[in-house]
Amino acid sequence: MDPSAGILFPIGASGYPPVVKRGTPACPGCAAPPVRETVGEVAVREGRFRLDRCLACGVVSLEPPPSDAVLAAAYDEAYYGPGHERFVTWVERAAVRLALRRARHVARRVAPPARVLDVGCGRGEVLRALVRRGYACSGTERDGRSAERARRESGADVRAGDLAEHRFPDGHFDSVMIWHVLEHLRDPEETLREVRRVLRPGGTLLVECPNVQSWQARLGGSGWFHYDPPRHLHNFGVSSLRRLGERCGFATRAVSTLSLLQGPFPMYQSLLNRFLAPRDALYDTLRRAPSARAIPLPAKATSFLALPILGPLSLLLEALATAAGRGGAARLEFERR
Ligand SMILES: [Zn+2]
Repeated sequence: MDPSAGILFPIGASGYPPVVKRGTPACPGCAAPPVRETVGEVAVREGRFRLDRCLACGVVSLEPPPSDAVLAAAYDEAYYGPGHERFVTWVERAAVRLALRRARHVARRVAPPARVLDVGCGRGEVLRALVRRGYACSGTERDGRSAERARRESGADVRAGDLAEHRFPDGHFDSVMIWHVLEHLRDPEETLREVRRVLRPGGTLLVECPNVQSWQARLGGSGWFHYDPPRHLHNFGVSSLRRLGERCGFATRAVSTLSLLQGPFPMYQSLLNRFLAPRDALYDTLRRAPSARAIPLPAKATSFLALPILGPLSLLLEALATAAGRGGAARLEFERR
């Protein structure tokens, strides 16, 4: 058992009896027959789900897994952004600037005109920055309209659908990146094995997910912002992501939990979620989700009024967490063996 996994959710700390569940299918993190305990429960518009943690590797999975229909409805218009912007303008600008930092992570490892692939490229901001630097860029995005828009805005070869559908040649890419995508997949291992096939030997894979081993996950409990039910099916931490990557034929080269995008704000929202319903009231307001209209005014007001106290506290906690290797993101750099 991974010793760090137990620190996260001491058995019984969630208030749930430490019931161990044995069953199939295999755990997406460690491929072992799953032995799980329920660490919480989340209720959202799409239904109620348990949060079940694998006792072997610490991956926390939604149970029961949401159906395809539930997931299709959960990736609504607002998830990708109506019109041109997903958030109100000032948040939007900050998010774009922070996304550009990701392009620098790639640029540090490979020089143009290297071939780079972004799996689940979203709106293509990272690809756009890399195209400008002279890289030969490809991307995939599950949603057809988002893929089309990313292609138009980035100038990269962005294809709609899952990675495996496109049959890129063996060893085609010098670098592959997967930003906050693995947690959305039913079978993350299948995707990583396909990435290994299309990456050249010695090529670099950058993967980042929310870190379920973070302090913000611990402090937020079932209200942790990044559980994002029902979209995040399997929640990895540093150690489970490392384990998955190494099982799929990669060597770990670097690990970091520092993320300006996934750090302080998710900490703030997770702390709010401890005492304020509905969950993610501030986030949904900022991203102008259709559901935001139904959020009671007191919840919206409290989300902002708490800022003078919870804001500095969130910054401090996230800084300390990152120093302790427990920041909000699990970013691993792998080399293809
Ligand atoms: Zn596991």
